[in-house]
Amino acid sequence: MQLKGYCYLCGAELSKSAMKNHIMKYHVQEGATPCALVKVESDLYWLYVAAPLTCTLGDMDQFLRDIWLECCNHLSEFNVQGDRFELPLSIPWADADPDVKLIHQYDFGSTTECLLTVVDHVPLPFDKVDLVARNVPMEYPCRQCGKPAAYILTELVYDEDDPYVCEECAEQHDGEYGYDMMSAITNSPRMGVCGYEGEMDRYNFRPEARELPKKITRGRKKAASPDTPS
Ligand SMILES: [Zn+2]
Ligand SMILES: [Zn+2]
Ligand SMILES: [Zn+2]
Repeated sequence: MQLKGYCYLCGAELSKSAMKNHIMKYHVQEGATPCALVKVESDLYWLYVAAPLTCTLGDMDQFLRDIWLECCNHLSEFNVQGDRFELPLSIPWADADPDVKLIHQYDFGSTTECLLTVVDHVPLPFDKVDLVARNVPMEYPCRQCGKPAAYILTELVYDEDDPYVCEECAEQHDGEYGYDMMSAITNSPRMGVCGYEGEMDRYNFRPEARELPKKITRGRKKAASPDTPS
């Protein structure tokens, strides 16, 4: 299964590989900021990210934390693929040549791993590390009724194929599951892991208001201690 995605510059909906061609064909602008166009993949999730050549791996680390990863400020690192060689976060993207592949790991306990591929160095209309394209959010059916789910039951994540419930069934089965064990469905490979709740997952596709925060307002208790050391 392959998830399609949205171009955040024009709203086009395309497959992951077609998106690369689309960006290179329609959004490279002479005179814009020299950038590394970076493909980021983790599981079924994917992004295309523009990284101005003067920005560093550290800037990308922060971007990935904001959009996909941050739960309780775990350690992270970049390695060159196939080589356990840790890269300093101060390296600028100018030094990452086209076709170079990097591994980013967040949290060395319940690790979330991302593969970053430098597609090319091209001028793009961005002045900081920023989102160019992102996979369409995956839809999960509720384990009880089959409607689109709103929550993941985090205690079932590792044992069951369908740990998802919808809003309605979550209310009805409140006693059974308990709100402590649920977190909102997010468009992130870290969904359901550690204390990840997606508060930072604020880039849901809304061309007219792409930076509006998507805050989870449901009145549920917060997990007792999401920052268990790991
Ligand atoms: Zn586009
Ligand atoms: Zn955590
Ligand atoms: Zn349901």
